Amino acid sequence: RTVYLNGDYLPEEDAKISIFDRSFLMADGVYEVTSVLGGKLIDFAGHSKRLERSLSELEMQKPDAFDDLLEIHRELVRLNDIDEGMIYLQVSRGSAGDRDFTYPSADVKPTLVLFTQSKPNLADNPVAKIGIKVISIEDQRWGRRDIKTVQLLYPSMGKMMAKAAGCDDAWMVEDGAVTEGTSNNAYIVKGNTIITRHLGTEILHGITRAAVLRFALEAQMKVEERPFTIQEAQDADEAFITSASTFVMPVVEIDGAAIGTGNPGPVAARLREIYLEESRNAAL
Ligand code: PMP
Repeated sequence: RTVYLNGDYLPEEDAKISIFDRSFLMADGVYEVTSVLGGKLIDFAGHSKRLERSLSELEMQKPDAFDDLLEIHRELVRLNDIDEGMIYLQVSRGSAGDRDFTYPSADVKPTLVLFTQSKPNLADNPVAKIGIKVISIEDQRWGRRDIKTVQLLYPSMGKMMAKAAGCDDAWMVEDGAVTEGTSNNAYIVKGNTIITRHLGTEILHGITRAAVLRFALEAQMKVEERPFTIQEAQDADEAFITSASTFVMPVVEIDGAAIGTGNPGPVAARLREIYLEESRNAAL
């Protein structure tokens, strides 16, 4: 696999960064995951805008190559012959060559890394036909979840707790309300209404979320952006998640309780279809 590191396209085994890099020592880095369908990038503009915001919220420099990111993504897709899959991008604050809590001076350049992951059947994912099962766990992450940092230990622990319970993912709960999934936004459906938590510092502002809510409104569905409880979710007609790598994925069970019929519902299926079609049409 060919990867990108600070201006160079390299075989993955030759791409090396310093042990003092702040993403390694302090999780001082931000990232984006963009999916690829038919060799083209989905929602590239949204991911690039959110990256810019994450960098700015952390007072991290933009990499010199920021304006070339579309070209770099495309070049990696070409070099690795990706038809369906993902591109991972990470920017870290770099390092002045020692361990120090204070940020390095402005002449220290950020580290920019990109790599591809081929995933045949990303769009035609068989899991979308059966749905996933989730457990609920307490949300123990830090308070700035709107910044997409590489601090993913708690989400990782959540996934492990889900696996140990025979489930696929965990929905995190804070002050009695669902925030989001470990790596996705969470939704429930009641009748013609889609309910998902409002934006704020408590959740990541999903790029897929923004698109799906727009398509839902265009399809004459109602959208309520507000907190909801696990109880309300268990009593809902349907539930689903969204993310760049799962698109729209039905949730059929929460903490052992079947949602609706216990099978993927029509609203999630329709939104998945619309999202895939619209995104392919707009792909870069
Ligand atoms: N919430 C969290 C915590 C995430 O990690 C992700 C995916 N990175 C999302 C939501 C979904 O965001 P997006 O639709 O931009 O992939």
